[in-house]
Amino acid sequence: MKQIVYADNAATTKLDEEALEAMLPFFVDDYANASQPYSFARGAKKAIRKAREIIASCINALPEEIYFTSGGTESDNWAIKNVVLSRSEHRMTITSSIEHHAVLRSCEAIERAGYPVVYLRPDAVGRVQVKTLEDAMTDKTGLVSIMLANNEIGTIQAIKDLASIAHRYGAIFHTDAVQAVGHVKVDVQDLGVDMLSASAHKFNGPKGVGFLYIRKGTEVISYQDGGSQENALRAGTENTAGIVGMAVALKRNCEQLDQHVTHIKRLEDMLIAMLDETGIAYARNGGQETLPGLISLSFHNADGEAILHRLDLQGICVSTGAACNSKETKISHVLQAIGLEEDYAKGTVRISLGRHNTEEDIENIVAAIKKILQ
Ligand code: PLP
Repeated sequence: MKQIVYADNAATTKLDEEALEAMLPFFVDDYANASQPYSFARGAKKAIRKAREIIASCINALPEEIYFTSGGTESDNWAIKNVVLSRSEHRMTITSSIEHHAVLRSCEAIERAGYPVVYLRPDAVGRVQVKTLEDAMTDKTGLVSIMLANNEIGTIQAIKDLASIAHRYGAIFHTDAVQAVGHVKVDVQDLGVDMLSASAHKFNGPKGVGFLYIRKGTEVISYQDGGSQENALRAGTENTAGIVGMAVALKRNCEQLDQHVTHIKRLEDMLIAMLDETGIAYARNGGQETLPGLISLSFHNADGEAILHRLDLQGICVSTGAACNSKETKISHVLQAIGLEEDYAKGTVRISLGRHNTEEDIENIVAAIKKILQ
């Protein structure tokens, strides 16, 4: 296989080897359905209980506040659509216009069902100002959903302040923390959130598994009906191996968080310094407080999609913020919401570094960008 420089860790991450090791027995040895009463199912049941405890302790929650799902998309759908399922009197939802499509499309679905949604516009670096939320709040607001960190430009939101505004009006506060969990410190008590979405494959866990944190006492209705798994709120045979792998991956990322952040930040600084040396004109999106290693760059008068394909020819994986068809360039909703000028937006590339990246990767990325753009 061609040597790959993987710099798209916001899309997905490499599975942690210890997580893989921990998962394997649940495919071939301890394969019992965890909900069965016989002793053969004890291993799976115990493993899920332990995984729930580990995950809860990583985000400072109680084990019974962790609900396993199939990933970030499902967790977001559950949190948003809960307002319709519960037929709450507080019908209005407030979110931001830079959320992931898992939130935005769920919001569009509840709008079609007659539940109004207000989309807050962030500032030029992608921050939702507390005052903007405060001005939009009414006594009809049932839910506020603002992501912890943006997946395209990395902006980290002032969740604690935003959640406290929501609570002042009696609304539930949900945060999509899919990009943040395992990468920055996430403490649900400190943040004061009522619901939080996470996805294992974003923090070196397996794909197809995640969780929704639901604070004890928060009014929620069953999202997926069937068996009595997950306290009868999310039915379906448990993905034992996935859940176990997710817990091990999260524990390892949280234990080594400082080390990883230091390593990734160093590579990030190196990339920016090397890029500056080239003299190529670019703008960096997302402001001062961004996810470690998430580097959204907008090159002036360039074509982000063409850069992506030319990097791909050299085995370098990154993402873009604008996609072209033969007639037009479609600039992402996030870049549009922050008001980035078109000359820059069209040339946007997202480089997202992870703990497995090296200095050599950075040298290769910058050398390739230089060759393409000069
Ligand atoms: N929310 C955010 C912020 C994301 O970045 C993603 C994935 O890219 C999701 C939700 C969806 O997560 P999953 O891939 O686990 O469905």
